[in-house]
Order: sequence, then C-alpha cells, then structure tokens
Amino acid sequence: MTQPSAAVPPPAPLLEVRADFPVFAHRPELVFLDSAASSQKPAAVIDAIAGFYAHDYANIHRGAYGLSARATDRFEAVRDQAAQFFGAPSRDGVVFTRNATEAINLVAHSWGQVHLNPGDVVLVSELEHHANLVPWHLVTGGRGARVEAVAMTPDGRLDLEDYERKLRELPVKFVALQHVSNALGTVHPARQLVELAHARGVSILLDGAQAAPHLPLNLTELGADFYVLSAHKMLGPSGVGLLLARPEALRGLPPYQGGGDMIREVYPQHSTYAPLPHTFEAGTPAIAEVIGFGAALDYLSGLGMANVAAHEQALLGYALQRLGAVDGLQLYGPASGRCGVVSFNVAGAHAHDVAGFLDEANICVRAGHHCAQPLMRALGVASTARASFSVYTTPADVDALADALGEIAQFFA
Ligand code: PLP
Repeated sequence: MTQPSAAVPPPAPLLEVRADFPVFAHRPELVFLDSAASSQKPAAVIDAIAGFYAHDYANIHRGAYGLSARATDRFEAVRDQAAQFFGAPSRDGVVFTRNATEAINLVAHSWGQVHLNPGDVVLVSELEHHANLVPWHLVTGGRGARVEAVAMTPDGRLDLEDYERKLRELPVKFVALQHVSNALGTVHPARQLVELAHARGVSILLDGAQAAPHLPLNLTELGADFYVLSAHKMLGPSGVGLLLARPEALRGLPPYQGGGDMIREVYPQHSTYAPLPHTFEAGTPAIAEVIGFGAALDYLSGLGMANVAAHEQALLGYALQRLGAVDGLQLYGPASGRCGVVSFNVAGAHAHDVAGFLDEANICVRAGHHCAQPLMRALGVASTARASFSVYTTPADVDALADALGEIAQFFA
C-alpha cells in the first residue's frame, strides 16, 4: 500500500511563469507532463507569430520592397540571436531546418556523400532516438559503410568504456550521439564525447533535441562539429529546427536540397551555390515560425537558462522522491545526471493503459517506445510511460501524477 508522502515541494525558481502560457488559462485542469514531445508556448511566442502575419509578412531574401527587406532583416536577426544564444562559433554555421530530424538527415546526406566509403563505421548508441539512427542507416546502406552502437549501462547511461573501445578498435569515420536521452533524461558527458572522438580525428554530431530546452549551452566550448535541435521542444513553434555547425565542417559539402534561395548562378545544365549558411536552405523557409523562435529565445533569455535548469532539477528531485514512494512503480534511468524526464511502468499494467488512466485525470504523459526501440530492448521492456517537465511545470503537477499513479498501481496490484 502506498504511504502518504513525506516529500516536501521544492522551492523551484520559476513558479510564476505558468501565467505566461495561455493554454493553462484556457484549460486550468491540465496537468501537462509531455514537454519532451513538444512544449507549450508562451503568449510572447504566439503574439510574435500573429503580429508578424498581421503587420510585417512578406517573403524574404528576394523582395525589392521595404516590407520584404524588413521581413528579411527580422529573419536573419534570429540567426544572429540563435548563434549568440547557443554560443555558436559563427552565424555561417547556423542553418534553419524544419526540425532536428531534418538537420540530422542533412548532415547524414551531405557529409556522408563526401566522406563515407565502403567499410567505414558510423558510431551511434543504443540510447538514440530513431531520428539519429535511421538517417545513418539510409546513408551507410548506400555507400557500403555500416552503423555500430555504443552500449547502454543497466542504469541508462552511455557505456564510456565501450565508446572508447569502439573508437579504438573499429574503423569509425563519424560519431552521432545524443546529448540528453528523450526516454530516460540521462545527460551524457558531451564535452568528453567530443574530445574522445576528436582525439582520434573523427567528426561528431550531437543530437541536442532534449538538451537545448533544459541546459545552458556554449557550442564553441563544446566543440562538436554538428549540433542539432528543434524549436518546438523549447517553447518555440513547430516547423523550425537548427543545425549549428562549425562552418569549417560544412565547407565543401554538397547541398542537401536544391531550389530557390540556395544558388549563386543557375544554367539549364548546372548551377553554383550561395555561400554558407544559405547553401543548405533551399526554398521558402518557415519565416513566421523562425520569428516566433526568436521570441522563444528572448523569453528563455529573460528567464535565464541556469534558472530553467535549476527549476527542472528541483522538480525532478521532488518527482523521484514522490514516485519512488509509490508501491508497484518501476522507475528507469540513472540516479543522478539527468534532466526533467521520468520513465516508469506500473507492475501488471501496459504503459498505454497507464497513460489512458492518467488522461482521465487530465494528466498528459507519453507512452510507448519513445522512438527509441533499441533502448527499450536494452531495458528489456516493450514500452514505458514518460513524464517530462518544462519551465511551467509545478510541484502540484508532480503531486497530481504521484497521487494518480498511487491509485493506478493499487488497481493493478
Ligand atoms: N532527438 C531526440 C533526442 C528527440 O527526443 C527527438 C524528438 O523527440 C528528436 C531527435 C526528433 O525531433 P523532431 O521530431 O523535432 O525532429
């Protein structure tokens, strides 16, 4: 039987920000714990997008009139803002994509075409999201190269000895690893992963889709050749992702897609390409959404990423205490070194049924394999339920989850 909780709600730094998110005014009953899938949006982001469409909208990079020039300036200003926010080495390496998935596909396609040869290995891990596996399957398959995976430890960390061994013993040409696990929240030692790859002359991509929303980043210090993320997971709109590359790593690579905006000169038989970063941005981008992403970065800058991280850590600690006290609940992931993600199963229940029961209490969690089937196999489960936090998550959300899970666990006991 689950005991009444002795856990005390934490003094989390951002308890006031919930009011900035209109969804909670429209749906006061909502306990939204699926921010790792996609976050809610503050009014600042919604207003920036609506305001841009209402007052300033035009296509960019091509208009001979003031409205288009202003739209271009605002779009390009977000590139500078992103370079600064993420501490990127140069705006020339900041490429707008549709999402993190497209950014990884871009690197796999363009880098792989030039550098991968028969017998080469692309090193991934058992923890990866499918977005950082399937693009590598596609490109290696076409080039006679292959993908190998670093093992996961039983508590859900990267096995660093296995990483070093595989770097040493296999013909590794490229490393593609996550920075933070979407299924378990594990924060990997990104700097060390980069240094170990570079020490062997191997280029590395880090998938920051789950790190960028939660951690202060300085990509120049981190030194990864390629870093990718999605705006929609960090309070921004869907339809925008970023590839943040060292410009030298992009130079000389063929474009990912062809079309308008990415060319210098076009003849019927051949074409030459625009300079970085435009080489990799074919066609009309998600203009208003990029403006909205700029508003999200402004909003996060106002909060301070150190406060964001501290808030989520406080809630994570509280959640681990409260959920750890629920009989019949199996928690996954490491004891420390993780972001605000908690994966769990209720003894005797399928994760989808657990999520269905929680939904009846207006509690939104994700259930399934979390686009990480190799990780689920390594854990020995088919699926888990996952609660994930953001700046607007409160201790009351955690209490609602823990109380509901206590009842569900008793039901299935
Ligand atoms: N990588 C990780 C670790 C993720 O969690 C996700 C999405 O959940 C992705 C990549 C793909 O993100 P998107 O679907 O926005 O491209």
